Amino acid sequence: MDAPRRLPLFDIKAEQAGFAPELRRRLDAVLAHCQFILGPEVAELEERLAALSGARHCIGISSGTDALLIALMAEGVGKGDAVFLPAFTYTATAEVPLLLGATPVFVDIDPRTFQIDPADLRRRIAAVRMAGKLLPRALIGVDLFGQPADWASLGEIVRAEGLFSLDDCAQSFGATFRNRRLGTLADATAVSFFPTKPLGGYGDGGALFTESDDRAALYRSLRSHGEGTTRYEVLRIGINGRLDTLQAAVLLAKLTGFDAALAARERIARCYDRLLSGLVKTPARVPDSTSVWAIYSVLLPDSETRTRVQVALTAARIGSNIYYPRPLHRQPAYAAHHDGPDLPVSDAVAARILALPMHPGVEEPDIERIAEVLRAVL
Ligand SMILES: *Cc1c(COP(=O)(O)O)cnc(C)c1O
Repeated sequence: MDAPRRLPLFDIKAEQAGFAPELRRRLDAVLAHCQFILGPEVAELEERLAALSGARHCIGISSGTDALLIALMAEGVGKGDAVFLPAFTYTATAEVPLLLGATPVFVDIDPRTFQIDPADLRRRIAAVRMAGKLLPRALIGVDLFGQPADWASLGEIVRAEGLFSLDDCAQSFGATFRNRRLGTLADATAVSFFPTKPLGGYGDGGALFTESDDRAALYRSLRSHGEGTTRYEVLRIGINGRLDTLQAAVLLAKLTGFDAALAARERIARCYDRLLSGLVKTPARVPDSTSVWAIYSVLLPDSETRTRVQVALTAARIGSNIYYPRPLHRQPAYAAHHDGPDLPVSDAVAARILALPMHPGVEEPDIERIAEVLRAVL
């Protein structure tokens, strides 16, 4: 018998076929003009993405992490400031406030959608105010796995508390909340073009979105070493944080098939929901939203069962992975920075969650195979 088809968790190569001629054309154009830093493709991409998201400004940045960093630098976030963020996210969300000397305050998540829990955010802001040691300054809300956080509730809280709101939309560009594309729901929105994100480049890349002209001007300055109106006028301390022209060219080519790729992801997610819902806990949808399905994660009964499922999937040549095996307050680098109450939902979800293959190459028979593996183990 032939070995079963290998089904990877992500498949960047298979997606290339859909836009290969446009990719060649775009790369050739860059190789011809050789403006590798802030070439015309960067401005073209910024315009396209601003239009796509409905945001007034888009600024191309070297990575999603640098986009988060620049957004906090522009607000002057630093020592003595509390920055609230979910414990259940990628490390980049929390490393940025620490790099600036600020203190991350971890917030628990909703057990159904895995997004930051607004009620717990309220409690933790009150606790920080009560303790009187740190000044509540900013919220980094994360749109996890391709879905938006509850920006209606988060927006009310940041307005009432006077916080700067930063949307870590690294995984979720293209998703909508109450019929609005992400990019306009917070004071600033950071996106990542890491290759496995739904809009992925072929290297590191990112972008910042904002409605504010002043913030946009600051972001442009900070991404180029704090330059002023001329290149060698240094107004402030910045970083080398520009998006490469070559990455902008790749992304412009990829955008031609972006809507079709998102539609395919939605079809796959629905197929998973239909075929797996009796077997495992499938992901709940955030109300009034659409997802770009960066990651499709299910919940298994416990971590031992999850290990057995992963072994069986690997034997069937099916990729899977755990996002995230430990919430951030359990990581050695962050444990010392967490002295608030427990984060029981983050702990419980980290112990049971498992991501399954999600890319336009996943087909119904693949999902039937995954269902078979699950039935055999559970
Ligand atoms: C990928 C990711 C980032 C960082 O993006 P990079 O482009 O890799 O720097 C930040 N936050 C979250 C939630 C992410 O998934």
